[in-house]
Amino acid sequence: MNNIITTSPFTIDGAQLQSRIQGAVIAPGDPRYDERRAAWNLTVDQQPALIVAAEGAHDIAAAVRFAREADLKVAVQATGHGVIRPANGSLLINTANMPQVTVNAEARTAWVSAGAKWAKVLEAAHAVGLAPLLGSSPDVGAVGYTLGGGMGWLARKHGLSIDSVNCFEVVTTDGQIVEASDAQNSDLFWGLRGGGGGLGVITGMEIRLYPIAEFYGGNLYYPIEHAHEVFACYREWIANAPDELTSSIVIMNYPPLPFFPEPLRGKTIAQVRGAYCGPIEQGEALLKFWRDWRTPVIDDFAARPFSDIAKVSNDPVDPMADMFSGGWLADLSDETLATLIEYGSAVRRPSPLILTEVRHAGGAIARVDPNSNVFGHRTAPHVLAMIGAALNPEMHTALRQHLDQFKQALQPHLLGVYLNFLEGEEARTRVREAFSAGAYRRLQTIKSRYDPDNRFSHSYDLAA
Ligand SMILES: Cc1cc2nc3c(=O)[nH]c(=O)nc-3n(C[C@H](O)[C@H](O)[C@H](O)COP(=O)(O)OP(=O)(O)OC[C@H]3O[C@@H](n4cnc5c(N)ncnc54)[C@H](O)[C@@H]3O)c2cc1C
Repeated sequence: MNNIITTSPFTIDGAQLQSRIQGAVIAPGDPRYDERRAAWNLTVDQQPALIVAAEGAHDIAAAVRFAREADLKVAVQATGHGVIRPANGSLLINTANMPQVTVNAEARTAWVSAGAKWAKVLEAAHAVGLAPLLGSSPDVGAVGYTLGGGMGWLARKHGLSIDSVNCFEVVTTDGQIVEASDAQNSDLFWGLRGGGGGLGVITGMEIRLYPIAEFYGGNLYYPIEHAHEVFACYREWIANAPDELTSSIVIMNYPPLPFFPEPLRGKTIAQVRGAYCGPIEQGEALLKFWRDWRTPVIDDFAARPFSDIAKVSNDPVDPMADMFSGGWLADLSDETLATLIEYGSAVRRPSPLILTEVRHAGGAIARVDPNSNVFGHRTAPHVLAMIGAALNPEMHTALRQHLDQFKQALQPHLLGVYLNFLEGEEARTRVREAFSAGAYRRLQTIKSRYDPDNRFSHSYDLAA
């Protein structure tokens, strides 16, 4: 196959790169190109100049060196769940062929390669009675999730995913493989934990695991007509909640599709969702508050093995055309709740599927020294995520307008952004709202030192 592409003013010789690496080098016209350029989020339609299906750190280092020689930008993706900038005209390093996970049960750590999804880490850790700090969907890439912070169902007890990273292995812009940890390249380590992947390509990370084998969790589903009372009760419920409980409220517009339970199908539902990671009987006792209050449409809170943590959110696994937005929320005042209910229930619904979730933050997230890494807004009490399905361009535009109006209405109560709950252009351009002014300046300084040519422009806009 002819692997030579001419993109003025450079000629990219894919065959030359192929001779240097073990993984496949895939150029436009290759039968594997469409499959390899596809992202999980179907709204991403990218045309990379070249795709490298990396098999290991040395492939990534060789690909980065090649990109320098050919003056190509470098993009990195594991799953395409959170593409910040489509890899158009870039060299796309796809890490899906690097899914290796090794658990050290005694040390309670795991080595997680760049392409591993959380599902693989969860499985390996659960087998020895341990749990990682994954998010709501085990289908998401562990490294991409962690670079943005990483808030999951253990967050109030054990913090963000970045707070449990011991070290990263990183390919720098000059193609060197280095360690970033408290002991080596500590400024890089500081910036990677919350600052995204724009400082280098992560080939793997060592994370800490926690002795959690089971949890008490699930959802309570109420008719949307009861939403005001449900959410006011929720405010009371979490006022003195132990850190073992990480919970959220959800407004979900269920499409009329057969795979949703009949009582939810085609309806707008107010949900209370959560996971308690302490003794099961204490979790069950916490639920008495709700069970004494009112019978929901469905109550599926139960004791479950931690390997079933995905059952709390039931996130979609199949690729989906979705749109993500959100921000840190200062309060759950009556006014905030009214706005959430009004816009979340989407009376003038621009899409068949819109989900609004407000997760309870605080706990261990807020106890971490704010200077220990770049992550901001640690003391914000709640974080908002808005997700919609955008099945065609018209729906995409209407959904964007709806989410913009929603955020505008909530503006007095919003504190800043959580980068993992943004995507695309919004993630790139609102990046400074994720950090304190001082932390953002330091991150820019680190960027100018580690990636002065902005080779890794696939991530947030950090270049000064
Ligand atoms: C269904 C769903 C559920 C989610 N739930 C949560 C949640 O509970 N909590 C939460 O915090 N977030 C959550 N997210 C957000 C998710 O963490 C981000 O979208 C994350 O970026 C996905 O990482 P990925 O590797 O799977 O995606 P990709 O699209 O492959 O990567 C995302 C970005 O990460 C960077 N990146 C990836 N790999 C590397 C690497 N090896 N080196 C350098 N940079 C890299 C790149 O900039 C890339 O553009 C969810 C997203 C979805 C779609």
